[in-house]
Amino acid sequence: MNKKTIEDIDVKGKKVLVRCDFNVPLDVNDKTKITDDRRITEALPTIKYLMEHGAKVILCSHIGKTKDKQTLLPVAKRLSELLNREVPFAKDVVGEDAKSKAAALNDGDVMLLENVRIHEEEEANDPAFSKELASLAEIYVNDAFGTAHRAHASTAGVAAYLPAVCGYLIQKEIGIMGNALENPERPFVAILGGAKVSSKIGVIENLLEKVDAIIIGGGMAYTFAKAVGGKIGKSLCEDDKLDLAREILDKAKAKGVKMYFPEDSVCASDISENATTSIYNSKEIPDDLEGLDIGPKSIEQFKEVIKTAKTVIWNGPMGFSELTPFATGTIEVAKALAENTAATTIIGGGDSAAAVEKFGLSDKMTHVSTGGGASLEFIEGKVLPGIAALNDK
Ligand code: AMP
Repeated sequence: MNKKTIEDIDVKGKKVLVRCDFNVPLDVNDKTKITDDRRITEALPTIKYLMEHGAKVILCSHIGKTKDKQTLLPVAKRLSELLNREVPFAKDVVGEDAKSKAAALNDGDVMLLENVRIHEEEEANDPAFSKELASLAEIYVNDAFGTAHRAHASTAGVAAYLPAVCGYLIQKEIGIMGNALENPERPFVAILGGAKVSSKIGVIENLLEKVDAIIIGGGMAYTFAKAVGGKIGKSLCEDDKLDLAREILDKAKAKGVKMYFPEDSVCASDISENATTSIYNSKEIPDDLEGLDIGPKSIEQFKEVIKTAKTVIWNGPMGFSELTPFATGTIEVAKALAENTAATTIIGGGDSAAAVEKFGLSDKMTHVSTGGGASLEFIEGKVLPGIAALNDK
């Protein structure tokens, strides 16, 4: 990577503003409880490095949506436990409390600011707000990979006013995914799932230039099935993308990229935990049913392809995996990846990362990205504004 990192600058005695991605999931019934702290633990190497090198560390992040005005206090508490020391929490972002707590920091100390999204100026990337945020510190570190695809004040705008470098998490994410995309060990297989073809078009087009095979599962498979004349019943379908699906198939053929689709599907008439399911050929689904997961034959076929791969990138579930009757395909694909220990296995964040985490398979993967949207845009080959804004080496 050609961007400066925390190791390229002297941080001793300096106030360092660190943008983390502490947008952790909270218990829906008790918003003081964090249900998965991976995004916090993934930020620890950067925080610890800065503390150990004598920086005065000012952490900031968003949590939830701007309209939610959710406090980051639960994160301050969890950080205090993980770092084994009290992490002071400022009740505001650029107000009196933030300023006085920042001024009281000694070398090696750490504090956390309130949710940057309590200010609407954050998402608006307001220059005055960015400047005020920058005035708290002398150096800016971006380690929030999960929001690196957003040009907001704390993820990009602030970099205009301070020396700006990246932390270890961004370095790791870009390093592993960048290497897989640019210099993959082959066969290189991409697995794409999720609801819509439209949200993955850019990804498919970029991957067609790089991979040997693409496995398509999830709701998006049915647009392809219909595009080649299949009967897909009530399954998800983007009728305005049928031509595009055919174009993708032609392009893949021309480039020699093999495309695999689910031969059979787990179908049901309703999406519920106790739905009655039946298996049909994915191109012969009865009118009153919907394909909601890949079927047993597809699982076997996909497993065979995954077994021989040396590099795998996976983004998007194979079915409606939030519900048990439609989760098997996603679980089996996750297991196949876990079993292929000879391959570099990369899970783009979001639903597929959540699934791998839920089934306890994260440790078996080479890399589970902390960013859903960000990893998708990275795989798409797009410039991430939060990284572009940092200083070049
Ligand atoms: P995406 O955000 O496009 O990656 O889509 C993820 C969502 O797609 C998840 O909520 C899944 O439940 C949903 N999904 C995956 N497969 C299907 C399917 N066959 N039918 C309906 N929804 C699906």
